[in-house]
Amino acid sequence: MASQRSLQRFWEWGKKIICVGRNYADHAKELKNPVPTEPVLFLKPPSAYVREGSPVMMPYYCHNLHHEVELGVVIGKGGTAIPQVSAMEHVGGYALCLDMTARDIQDECKKKGLPWTLAKAFNTSCPVSDFIPKEKIVDPQNLRLWLKVNDKLRQEGNTGSMVFSVPYLISYISEIISLEEGDIILTGTPEGVAAVQEYDELHAGLEDIVSMKFKVERQTH
Ligand code: MG
Repeated sequence: MASQRSLQRFWEWGKKIICVGRNYADHAKELKNPVPTEPVLFLKPPSAYVREGSPVMMPYYCHNLHHEVELGVVIGKGGTAIPQVSAMEHVGGYALCLDMTARDIQDECKKKGLPWTLAKAFNTSCPVSDFIPKEKIVDPQNLRLWLKVNDKLRQEGNTGSMVFSVPYLISYISEIISLEEGDIILTGTPEGVAAVQEYDELHAGLEDIVSMKFKVERQTH
C-alpha cells in the first residue's frame, strides 16, 4: 500500500478518473436533461489532469468550452462491490476539480448517440487542486463549491444538493468498476455552467479549504 504522502500526489499515479453526470437536479434541468434515477457515469484518462500553473487548453475542434466545478473524492483503499455502510472507509481524501467539457461536441455526440470521449476526456479536461486530507472535511454532503470567471461568480452550490451521495456513488461504481487507491470520483456539478474564452481566468474554491486558478488557452492545430 502506498503511503499517505504519495496519496497527496494522486494525480501523478492514480489510474482512473470516474465522473458522475447530472448529479445535481438544477444542473440536469439547465441542460434540459431529466434528473437521473441511476448515476450517469463516464471516464477521463489520467492524462486529463492539469495542475495550477499550467493552462487549461481549449481543444482545436471546440468552440464552446464549459466549466463544471466538482467535488472530487480520492480513493484511499480499493475495493469491489463496497457496501454503502462502509463506503467512507475507502475515502482517502478529497480534491476540488473542474470537469472541462466541450459542450458543442457533447451536444453533437448526444444527437448522434456517440460516446463523449472528445467532449470530456481531452488533455487538461481535469484541472485538480491540492489534495485535501479526509480529516479536513467532516461532512462531504455539506460543502460550498464556487467558480468565478474573470472575478465574476458563475457557479455556487452545496454538495448537500447531490442526487446521489458520496457513499452511494462509491458503492454503485465499485460494483461495476473496481476502485483502486489513487482513483478519483468527480461527483457532478451544480448549476451555472457556461462558456469560457481564450485568456479567461477560472478561479474555483471549496469552502475556505482550497482554491485554484487556471488560464484558458486555445490549442493550435
Ligand atoms: Mg461534470
